[in-house]
Amino acid sequence: MLETRDLRGGYGRVPVLHGITLEAGAREITGILGRNGMGKTTLLKALMGELPATGGTLALAGQDLTRARPHERARAGIGYVPQGRQIFPFLTVAQNLRMGCAKNFATAEATIARVLQHFPRLQRLLEQPGGSLSGGEQQLLALARCLCGDPKLILLDEPTEGIQPSICDEIVETLLQLRERDGLAVVLVEQDIEFLCALCDRILVIDKGVFTGAIDPRQTSSEEIARQFTDFHA
Ligand code: ADP
Repeated sequence: MLETRDLRGGYGRVPVLHGITLEAGAREITGILGRNGMGKTTLLKALMGELPATGGTLALAGQDLTRARPHERARAGIGYVPQGRQIFPFLTVAQNLRMGCAKNFATAEATIARVLQHFPRLQRLLEQPGGSLSGGEQQLLALARCLCGDPKLILLDEPTEGIQPSICDEIVETLLQLRERDGLAVVLVEQDIEFLCALCDRILVIDKGVFTGAIDPRQTSSEEIARQFTDFHA
Protein backbone atom coordinates (compact mmCIF):
# COMPACT_ATOMS: atom_id res chain seq x y z
CA MET A 1 0.00 0.00 0.00
CA LEU A 2 2.59 2.57 1.15
CA GLU A 3 6.13 2.33 -0.13
CA THR A 4 8.92 4.77 0.65
CA ARG A 5 12.49 4.38 -0.59
CA ASP A 6 15.33 6.27 1.07
CA LEU A 7 12.96 9.12 2.00
CA ARG A 8 14.70 12.24 3.29
CA GLY A 9 13.31 15.41 4.77
CA GLY A 10 13.50 17.96 7.55
CA TYR A 11 12.85 21.57 8.42
CA GLY A 12 14.33 24.06 5.96
CA ARG A 13 17.98 23.16 5.68
CA VAL A 14 17.97 21.05 8.87
CA PRO A 15 17.82 17.38 7.82
CA VAL A 16 15.93 15.08 10.22
CA LEU A 17 15.04 11.99 8.16
CA HIS A 18 18.15 10.36 6.73
CA GLY A 19 16.76 7.71 4.39
CA ILE A 20 13.54 6.00 5.46
CA THR A 21 12.60 2.84 3.58
CA LEU A 22 9.19 1.61 4.67
CA GLU A 23 6.58 -0.71 3.23
CA ALA A 24 3.16 -0.82 4.89
CA GLY A 25 0.70 -3.27 3.35
CA ALA A 26 -3.09 -3.34 3.38
CA ARG A 27 -4.32 -4.85 6.69
CA GLU A 28 -0.91 -4.16 8.26
CA ILE A 29 -0.50 -2.12 11.43
CA THR A 30 2.99 -0.72 11.84
CA GLY A 31 4.13 0.95 15.06
CA ILE A 32 7.05 3.39 15.18
CA LEU A 33 8.92 3.52 18.47
CA GLY A 34 11.75 5.83 19.39
CA ARG A 35 12.93 8.26 22.01
CA ASN A 36 11.92 11.91 21.96
CA GLY A 37 13.43 13.94 19.17
CA MET A 38 14.29 10.94 16.94
CA GLY A 39 12.04 12.05 14.06
CA LYS A 40 8.74 10.20 14.61
CA THR A 41 6.43 13.20 14.12
CA THR A 42 8.67 14.48 11.31
CA LEU A 43 8.27 11.13 9.55
CA LEU A 44 4.46 11.30 9.70
CA LYS A 45 4.53 14.92 8.44
CA ALA A 46 6.77 13.85 5.56
CA LEU A 47 4.43 10.94 4.71
CA MET A 48 1.47 13.36 4.69
CA GLY A 49 3.39 15.90 2.59
CA GLU A 50 3.44 18.66 5.20
CA LEU A 51 7.21 18.63 4.80
CA PRO A 52 8.68 18.30 1.31
CA ALA A 53 10.87 15.30 0.54
CA THR A 54 14.48 16.34 -0.04
CA GLY A 55 15.33 12.90 -1.40
CA GLY A 56 13.91 9.45 -2.04
CA THR A 57 10.44 8.43 -3.18
CA LEU A 58 6.98 7.78 -1.78
CA ALA A 59 4.13 5.88 -3.43
CA LEU A 60 0.67 4.78 -2.36
CA ALA A 61 -0.90 1.78 -4.09
CA GLY A 62 1.64 2.21 -6.89
CA GLN A 63 0.91 5.93 -7.42
CA ASP A 64 4.00 8.13 -7.04
CA LEU A 65 3.21 10.88 -4.50
CA THR A 66 6.75 12.06 -3.76
CA ARG A 67 5.97 15.62 -4.90
CA ALA A 68 2.23 15.58 -4.06
CA ARG A 69 0.85 18.19 -1.67
CA PRO A 70 -1.08 17.19 1.47
CA HIS A 71 -4.56 17.62 -0.08
CA GLU A 72 -3.48 15.53 -3.08
CA ARG A 73 -2.22 12.80 -0.74
CA ALA A 74 -5.51 12.95 1.20
CA ARG A 75 -7.40 12.53 -2.07
CA ALA A 76 -5.16 9.59 -3.00
CA GLY A 77 -6.06 7.88 0.30
CA ILE A 78 -3.76 9.01 3.10
CA GLY A 79 -5.48 10.08 6.33
CA TYR A 80 -3.61 11.80 9.18
CA VAL A 81 -4.54 12.33 12.82
CA PRO A 82 -1.84 14.66 14.16
CA GLN A 83 -0.70 14.90 17.75
CA GLY A 84 -3.14 17.00 19.77
CA ARG A 85 -6.02 15.88 17.50
CA GLN A 86 -6.84 19.33 16.02
CA ILE A 87 -10.61 18.96 16.04
CA PHE A 88 -12.72 22.12 15.67
CA PRO A 89 -13.71 22.93 19.30
CA PHE A 90 -16.58 25.30 18.46
CA LEU A 91 -18.22 22.99 15.94
CA THR A 92 -20.43 20.12 17.07
CA VAL A 93 -19.31 16.53 16.77
CA ALA A 94 -21.63 16.12 13.73
CA GLN A 95 -20.18 19.26 12.08
CA ASN A 96 -16.63 18.05 12.75
CA LEU A 97 -17.49 14.78 11.01
CA ARG A 98 -18.97 16.66 8.04
CA MET A 99 -15.66 18.56 7.70
CA GLY A 100 -14.03 15.13 7.27
CA CYS A 101 -16.24 14.44 4.25
CA ALA A 102 -14.65 17.17 2.10
CA LYS A 103 -13.75 14.55 -0.52
CA ASN A 104 -17.42 14.00 -1.26
CA PHE A 105 -19.99 16.21 0.49
CA ALA A 106 -22.83 14.70 -1.58
CA THR A 107 -22.54 11.39 0.29
CA ALA A 108 -21.60 12.90 3.67
CA GLU A 109 -24.61 11.63 5.64
CA ALA A 110 -24.19 8.04 4.44
CA THR A 111 -20.42 8.20 5.09
CA ILE A 112 -20.93 9.54 8.62
CA ALA A 113 -23.56 6.87 9.40
CA ARG A 114 -21.17 4.15 8.20
CA VAL A 115 -18.25 5.49 10.23
CA LEU A 116 -20.37 6.00 13.36
CA GLN A 117 -21.17 2.27 13.46
CA HIS A 118 -17.65 1.91 14.84
CA PHE A 119 -18.01 4.75 17.35
CA PRO A 120 -21.08 4.16 19.56
CA ARG A 121 -19.71 6.61 22.12
CA LEU A 122 -19.77 9.45 19.55
CA GLN A 123 -23.34 8.69 18.49
CA ARG A 124 -24.53 10.00 21.84
CA LEU A 125 -22.47 13.20 21.52
CA LEU A 126 -23.36 14.38 18.01
CA GLU A 127 -24.82 17.75 19.02
CA GLN A 128 -22.14 18.59 21.62
CA PRO A 129 -19.35 21.05 20.75
CA GLY A 130 -16.11 19.19 20.04
CA GLY A 131 -14.30 21.24 22.67
CA SER A 132 -16.62 19.97 25.45
CA LEU A 133 -15.54 16.34 24.90
CA SER A 134 -12.97 14.59 27.11
CA GLY A 135 -9.48 14.08 25.66
CA GLY A 136 -10.30 10.46 24.83
CA GLU A 137 -13.59 11.37 23.15
CA GLN A 138 -11.78 14.03 21.10
CA GLN A 139 -9.29 11.39 19.99
CA LEU A 140 -12.16 9.14 18.88
CA LEU A 141 -13.69 12.12 17.04
CA ALA A 142 -10.39 12.90 15.29
CA LEU A 143 -10.08 9.26 14.22
CA ALA A 144 -13.72 9.12 13.04
CA ARG A 145 -13.32 12.39 11.12
CA CYS A 146 -10.20 11.01 9.43
CA LEU A 147 -12.12 7.86 8.44
CA CYS A 148 -14.85 10.01 6.84
CA GLY A 149 -12.25 10.79 4.15
CA ASP A 150 -12.30 7.08 3.24
CA PRO A 151 -8.53 6.59 3.58
CA LYS A 152 -6.58 3.50 2.52
CA LEU A 153 -3.79 4.34 4.96
CA ILE A 154 -4.01 6.25 8.23
CA LEU A 155 -1.17 7.92 10.08
CA LEU A 156 -1.70 8.36 13.83
CA ASP A 157 0.58 10.47 16.03
CA GLU A 158 0.48 9.33 19.68
CA PRO A 159 -3.20 8.40 19.80
CA THR A 160 -3.11 7.48 23.51
CA GLU A 161 -1.49 10.70 24.72
CA GLY A 162 -3.39 11.96 27.76
CA ILE A 163 -6.41 9.69 27.40
CA GLN A 164 -8.08 7.24 29.77
CA PRO A 165 -7.29 3.48 29.44
CA SER A 166 -10.90 2.49 28.59
CA ILE A 167 -10.74 4.65 25.46
CA CYS A 168 -7.30 3.24 24.55
CA ASP A 169 -8.98 -0.19 24.53
CA GLU A 170 -11.77 1.17 22.32
CA ILE A 171 -9.23 2.57 19.87
CA VAL A 172 -7.45 -0.79 19.67
CA GLU A 173 -10.77 -2.60 19.03
CA THR A 174 -11.90 -0.06 16.43
CA LEU A 175 -8.63 -0.16 14.48
CA LEU A 176 -8.57 -3.96 14.49
CA GLN A 177 -12.16 -4.02 13.16
CA LEU A 178 -11.37 -1.48 10.44
CA ARG A 179 -8.29 -3.41 9.41
CA GLU A 180 -10.45 -6.53 8.96
CA ARG A 181 -13.45 -4.85 7.35
CA ASP A 182 -11.81 -2.25 5.08
CA GLY A 183 -8.28 -3.63 4.73
CA LEU A 184 -6.95 -0.40 6.21
CA ALA A 185 -3.19 0.08 6.56
CA VAL A 186 -2.07 1.95 9.70
CA VAL A 187 1.23 3.60 10.60
CA LEU A 188 1.31 4.94 14.13
CA VAL A 189 3.77 6.66 16.40
CA GLU A 190 3.28 5.75 20.05
CA GLN A 191 5.17 5.68 23.35
CA ASP A 192 2.74 3.32 25.12
CA ILE A 193 4.39 -0.06 24.56
CA GLU A 194 1.39 -2.10 25.75
CA PHE A 195 -0.82 -0.28 23.26
CA LEU A 196 1.71 -0.93 20.49
CA CYS A 197 1.89 -4.63 21.38
CA ALA A 198 -1.91 -4.98 21.51
CA LEU A 199 -2.32 -3.49 18.05
CA CYS A 200 0.74 -3.80 15.86
CA ASP A 201 1.89 -6.49 13.47
CA ARG A 202 5.39 -5.11 13.79
CA ILE A 203 7.22 -2.30 15.54
CA LEU A 204 10.01 -0.36 13.84
CA VAL A 205 12.60 1.40 15.94
CA ILE A 206 13.68 4.86 14.80
CA ASP A 207 16.89 6.51 15.98
CA LYS A 208 18.13 9.89 14.70
CA GLY A 209 16.00 9.73 11.56
CA VAL A 210 16.77 6.16 10.46
CA PHE A 211 15.20 2.79 11.26
CA THR A 212 17.61 0.77 13.39
CA GLY A 213 15.56 -2.32 14.14
CA ALA A 214 12.28 -4.18 13.98
CA ILE A 215 10.42 -5.95 16.77
CA ASP A 216 7.80 -8.67 16.32
CA PRO A 217 5.33 -8.06 19.18
CA ARG A 218 4.15 -11.68 18.94
CA GLN A 219 7.67 -12.86 19.80
CA THR A 220 8.64 -10.19 22.33
CA SER A 221 6.70 -9.25 25.49
CA SER A 222 5.93 -5.61 26.30
CA GLU A 223 8.07 -5.94 29.46
CA GLU A 224 11.05 -7.05 27.37
CA ILE A 225 10.57 -4.17 24.90
CA ALA A 226 10.29 -1.72 27.81
CA ARG A 227 13.56 -3.07 29.24
CA GLN A 228 15.30 -2.38 25.93
CA PHE A 229 13.94 1.17 26.00
CA THR A 230 14.58 2.03 29.59
CA ASP A 231 13.20 5.53 29.27
CA PHE A 232 9.86 4.19 28.04
CA HIS A 233 7.14 2.92 30.33
CA ALA A 234 5.54 -0.48 29.73
P1 ADP B 1 9.85 12.88 17.83
O1 ADP B 1 8.49 12.92 17.24
O2 ADP B 1 10.57 11.58 17.62
O3 ADP B 1 9.89 13.30 19.28
P2 ADP B 1 10.36 15.10 16.04
O4 ADP B 1 10.08 14.51 14.71
O5 ADP B 1 9.33 15.98 16.66
O6 ADP B 1 10.77 13.94 17.06
O7 ADP B 1 11.71 15.94 15.95
C1 ADP B 1 12.88 15.44 15.30
C2 ADP B 1 13.94 16.54 15.26
O8 ADP B 1 13.45 17.62 14.48
C3 ADP B 1 14.30 17.10 16.63
O9 ADP B 1 15.68 17.31 16.65
C4 ADP B 1 13.55 18.40 16.69
O10 ADP B 1 14.24 19.33 17.48
C5 ADP B 1 13.52 18.83 15.22
N1 ADP B 1 12.32 19.63 14.93
C6 ADP B 1 11.05 19.29 15.22
N2 ADP B 1 10.18 20.24 14.79
C7 ADP B 1 10.94 21.22 14.22
C8 ADP B 1 10.65 22.47 13.57
N3 ADP B 1 9.39 22.92 13.43
N4 ADP B 1 11.71 23.20 13.11
C9 ADP B 1 12.98 22.75 13.24
N5 ADP B 1 13.32 21.58 13.83
C10 ADP B 1 12.33 20.82 14.30
